[in-house]
Amino acid sequence: MAEHPKRKGIIIFGPPGAGKGTHASRLVEKLELAYIATGDILREAVAKGTPLGVEAAGYMNRGELVPDEVMIPIVEERLAQVNDKKGFLLDGFPRTVRQAAMLDDAARRNAIEIDKAIYLKTSKDAIVQRLSGRRICPGCGATYHVANIPPKVEGVCDKCGTPLVQREDDREAAIATRLAEYDKQTAEVIRYYREKGILAEVNGDLPVEASHPIIVKIISEGGRL
Ligand code: AMP
Repeated sequence: MAEHPKRKGIIIFGPPGAGKGTHASRLVEKLELAYIATGDILREAVAKGTPLGVEAAGYMNRGELVPDEVMIPIVEERLAQVNDKKGFLLDGFPRTVRQAAMLDDAARRNAIEIDKAIYLKTSKDAIVQRLSGRRICPGCGATYHVANIPPKVEGVCDKCGTPLVQREDDREAAIATRLAEYDKQTAEVIRYYREKGILAEVNGDLPVEASHPIIVKIISEGGRL
């Protein structure tokens, strides 16, 4: 009997401000992947005031990581629901080696193969410039940048007309904490995937137009999507 092909998992990660979300939304559309963005899941929970949101909000506003015990069940649940797509793209997870190990376990149980971990290697200057200028739409989730991707009318979302806001954790003090957390925890994740032989490094300082085709090529070279 022919085996069912495994579903594919692609991870996109890198420091805050590397452009993960921007790339992810383009890739998902182009490659028909399900999209799991842990930051978005958490922000939605905070906005709705669910028990998860109440628990996560403090960590997020300070720029700290939400504990693994909270994150792991959320991702487990989403992975089990990815049925009808060619695969999925994970944005913002794993951020610790413990999360990466959990992902491997869950992948085995759900007939998923983690195919590539795309690492957007980004300089500190680019990170600070991007995060401090980022503005988001609380209405539809669209993202802008005061200099790089300005809305047509200053301070207002092009898509739904809602006034744009700065994320609490894009303010200077939280940016510093997020970068320190990243250095402390997520850098180990790079090593984890390098050792597995599925790490693909992409220059995160490049404008999205330049790096996007590189990422598409890396994913397509796997030949399985
Ligand atoms: P992001 O939108 O990916 O930058 O995530 C925003 C914030 O959500 C992070 O600074 C963390 O506080 C929290 N968060 C998102 N994903 C994770 C994760 N995998 N593990 C722990 N905390 C996370």
